[in-house]
Amino acid sequence: MALKPGIITGKDYITLVEACKAGGYALPAVNVTDINSLNAALEAAANAKSDIIIQLSNGGARYYGGSSLPDTIDVKVKGAVSAARHAHMMAADYGIGVVLHTDHANRKLLPWIDGLIEAGKKHFEETGAPLFSSHMLDLSEETLEDNISISADYLKKLHEIDMSIEIELGVTGGEEDGVGSDLVEGADNSHLYTQPDEVLTAYKALDGLGHFTIAAAFGNVHGVYKPGNVVLRPEILDQSQKHVEKICGLGHNPLHFVFHGGSGSEKAKIAEAVSYGAFKMNIDTDTQFACANGIGKYVEANREAFFHQMHPETGAPLKKFYDPRKWGREIQKSMATRLMEAMDDLGSTGKSICR
Ligand SMILES: [Zn+2]
Repeated sequence: MALKPGIITGKDYITLVEACKAGGYALPAVNVTDINSLNAALEAAANAKSDIIIQLSNGGARYYGGSSLPDTIDVKVKGAVSAARHAHMMAADYGIGVVLHTDHANRKLLPWIDGLIEAGKKHFEETGAPLFSSHMLDLSEETLEDNISISADYLKKLHEIDMSIEIELGVTGGEEDGVGSDLVEGADNSHLYTQPDEVLTAYKALDGLGHFTIAAAFGNVHGVYKPGNVVLRPEILDQSQKHVEKICGLGHNPLHFVFHGGSGSEKAKIAEAVSYGAFKMNIDTDTQFACANGIGKYVEANREAFFHQMHPETGAPLKKFYDPRKWGREIQKSMATRLMEAMDDLGSTGKSICR
């Protein structure tokens, strides 16, 4: 079933998730923080003819809103709304489908989600569709009981405006914008692996309330570390799918899984996670590096333009090299190229369902 290009929400989002699972591929969920990263993500999706998930962390939303402003919930709400509005305005021009998401919100950040739900309601009343497609709650620091009951309350609210929720079970290692903590080498890492029974409990509590996706921890870690610190065990996803399938009498791979901390992962493990029903892989660290690498190469090749308005020896004007659009474009191109590689790894290249 083909969808219209642009922002994808509600039933269309479920159609897209089902298409990913049926087609054996996943979409990259790209953290964006500014207009360069947002446009680069759209560019990569258009070039690869892949649908894409674009998301903001609370820190990304704050940066988008303006780093010089106070670090308040209000600025984080407005920053995320600004980015989403830009995406709504431009996405269809790229000819692909865009899912708008937010990243990790722990208990402290629930007011951020509350503000975004308010903005989403307003957008829903005006246009019949929400502003974002889905929000993520990360209550993995709470007890399983609290995690699931708070997530259920939010899912009810989100479902009213045709939105989905992503919850986290088990702990994604590392730190993402103040949520979580850095990996300790040699520590007991058993909390980094979700138990299939926890997934079943969440499924039973959320089923029927609306559309939900689950970030289940299988040794995935935010950031890129030396290999060998934590072992990636995607079979946990398979075991969880089979457990829920059997107990609840459902079809193959009934759950919609999300793979956090995708950066730096071995390609074979990515493919394995996708085969166990992961339809979304978050990518941030690798695209951050691609941005830095793009500008780094440009600065190296055009050094004089970053310190002089005219060439110190020849006197030639250097404006066309230091124009921020020149080096900004290098950031965009480098990030888009890295994202297209991620799309190849996830199998989403050429698979857009939007025409
Ligand atoms: Zn994450």
